[in-house]
Amino acid sequence: MPSLQTQLESACHSVQHEIGVGKVANYIPALAQVPPGKFGAAIISISGEKASFGDAQEAFSIQSISKLFALTAALNVHNNNIWDRVGREPSGNAFNSIVQLEKENGIPRNPLINAGALVVTDMLLGEQTATDTVTQLLSLVQRLADNESIAIDKTVAESERNTAHRNASLAHFMKSFGNLECTVSDVLDAYCQQCAIAMSCEQLARSALFLANNGTDPLTRQCIVDEERARRLNAMMMLCGHYDASGDFAHRVGLPGKSGVGGGIVAVVPDVGAVAVWSPCLNENGNSHAGTAALEALVRATKWNVF
Ligand code: GLU
Repeated sequence: MPSLQTQLESACHSVQHEIGVGKVANYIPALAQVPPGKFGAAIISISGEKASFGDAQEAFSIQSISKLFALTAALNVHNNNIWDRVGREPSGNAFNSIVQLEKENGIPRNPLINAGALVVTDMLLGEQTATDTVTQLLSLVQRLADNESIAIDKTVAESERNTAHRNASLAHFMKSFGNLECTVSDVLDAYCQQCAIAMSCEQLARSALFLANNGTDPLTRQCIVDEERARRLNAMMMLCGHYDASGDFAHRVGLPGKSGVGGGIVAVVPDVGAVAVWSPCLNENGNSHAGTAALEALVRATKWNVF
């Protein structure tokens, strides 16, 4: 059996021609500055074996991958009560779409699209300030990644906050249905900071490792969520983690995964480990083009597809 490093290298080498295909997200001005040729990948197994390729140590904006961490935090505080305010069905719509919200009375389809994540952020805020809420979320991420140096990229946060017109619309719309308790401004402040958490592929893979091991970090032995919740978070990622291309990701890769418009994708291989890839050029659904191709090649070689 080839080592993880050999398998990762050969998968990554096989997709080098895909790097640069697609477009870097530019609706958040700071993201448009990221060089399109970046490419990194990292694996960590539940026994602690690691593999890395390319720009695996360079921090990038995790964007919507933060929705996985926010959901984990909200479930830990509010348990199943969150499902009164957000659904758990694939949306079949763009990540920032507003259309379903009108027909569905301001209840977003799931917590991994923007509308759903704004509701989750509202739940995390409660009576706290945006800064305290984000500080708590950041410390969860640091604990999951076993790395206290992880931080928020303030330039990206400010850039998104200054241009968050679409998310502001979603938030106001949900507020009109009574599905937002805090002010729209506080929700946006917290949400834009959470999306601007910067992490490397190595840190990101490490942070999802608990989901490959029934909710317990296999290296520190800390229980992050119970087994049932870990299964549900993985199910949520499988069905909703890639917006309206979640079916395509399941078809090609077959792993629970979450993408972000920063070009990152984190994927969980139950009972094996976690993988993260980063390549900033996105396909038309807002998912990393070369990153998806790398995961597809890796899974084909390793047979990690859960199906
Ligand atoms: N911060 C981004 C937004 O709200 C996240 C979207 C994404 O990564 O898909 O537009």
